[in-house]
Amino acid sequence: MTKTRKLYVKSFGCQMNVYDSRRMADTLAPHGYIETGTPEDADLVILNTCHIREKAAEKVYSELGRMRRLKEAAAAENRRVLIAVAGCVAQAEGEEIVRRAPTVDLVFGPQSYHRLPGLLARAADGARAIDTEFSTDDKFAALAAPMAAATRARGACAFVTVQEGCDKFCTFCVVPYTRGAELSRPVDGIVAEIESLAEAGVREVTLIGQNVNAYHGMGPDGRVWSLANLLQRAGQVTGVERLRYTTSHPHDMDDDLIAAHRDLPKLMPQLHLPVQSGSDQILAAMNRRHTRADYLRIVERLRRSCPALALTSDFIVGFPGETEEDFAATLDLVADVGFSGAFSFKYSPRPGTPGGEMAGQIDEAIKSERLQRLQQAIDESQAKFNRSCLGRAFDVLFERRGRHAGQLVGRSPYLQPVQAIAPETLIGEIAAVTITEIGSNSLFGMLAENAQAPILATAGA
Ligand code: SF4
Repeated sequence: MTKTRKLYVKSFGCQMNVYDSRRMADTLAPHGYIETGTPEDADLVILNTCHIREKAAEKVYSELGRMRRLKEAAAAENRRVLIAVAGCVAQAEGEEIVRRAPTVDLVFGPQSYHRLPGLLARAADGARAIDTEFSTDDKFAALAAPMAAATRARGACAFVTVQEGCDKFCTFCVVPYTRGAELSRPVDGIVAEIESLAEAGVREVTLIGQNVNAYHGMGPDGRVWSLANLLQRAGQVTGVERLRYTTSHPHDMDDDLIAAHRDLPKLMPQLHLPVQSGSDQILAAMNRRHTRADYLRIVERLRRSCPALALTSDFIVGFPGETEEDFAATLDLVADVGFSGAFSFKYSPRPGTPGGEMAGQIDEAIKSERLQRLQQAIDESQAKFNRSCLGRAFDVLFERRGRHAGQLVGRSPYLQPVQAIAPETLIGEIAAVTITEIGSNSLFGMLAENAQAPILATAGA
């Protein structure tokens, strides 16, 4: 009989890392690993790292200091704990981690985690295992069967990776180096995974990929399918009520995908479409492959296809060479598009990327000041969008209990958290909610069927 052991996975960074962490646990479940919520009682700790943010590697080394103490405490109780570093920092720093952190037993990259059981067997025999090869075998086919994914469904919403890697080589980004070239999963495996998630109660599926709209996977008919084809097929899965996809590149917003926002009722009217800058000079220096005018044209076509569409985006301020004029063009773009929200960051060089070598690096104080101005513009745009929601009725997918008695929390079609007094039987279900109040981070409302009832318990949420 397989001995039961405890697994603790700490996930850093993006949704794809969250997904990968779940699939790692799926892969290890048949080998007797069950998840625990604390590292202290784990037999195996996996740090699934992210390389996008500043000083990512240093944060991992500091976390490993904590893991070393934890491992020593366990050894004092005659318990052996294995420590693994996974994800993009592992991919980028592989040998360096082994050299600098003797406490680490395994290092493996995002393309290698389906080989985890074999790596663990080597580590259990006392050998430190490292695997940062870009895999040529099909990682997704080798991963645990879709049934395992179903058992891992936690709640009404789930991510499904459909595409990995990127061939775009934006000059600020490490993804092409850590995740490798674009790779799309075949349609059948994706549909099987969505079917098992839907059987387990998932109602909303977000198809994810580093460059998800570059999806080009093999269809069951032997042809290459686009993301639009895949979304249409995913919408046919019984139980799936809502679809989203992220993250997209403007260059890959093709006609079919734009039309899908008109033709697929299950595709939510919200799209995250990173632009990064509003200046053509900076977009060229970033190697973004689109101009400001290209981006605005795509937005216009999307809104013609789906007038209710809300857009969110990503911005980088202080990219090398960015003048005050370039930055003003970014502020103009925010005003022109009217985003419902956006993420914005100061540029910081990533090792091995061309941006770090460019002339014209911007002073930190200037970056901070520009970031503050940009965030203010984004906040105003978001507040304006949220105010436009007041009094409207939205279908809300309820996910969990709120902080107050009788309150549930769900998501609007625009991904805003919505809090409303509702029976617990609605968890995992979609119900119409009339928005009655706008908070700083959430909307508050009441079930549309109770629209005449008084507003209840929103204070302090
Ligand atoms: S398209 Fe996205 S993932 Fe690819 S290099 Fe550019 S920023 Fe990175």
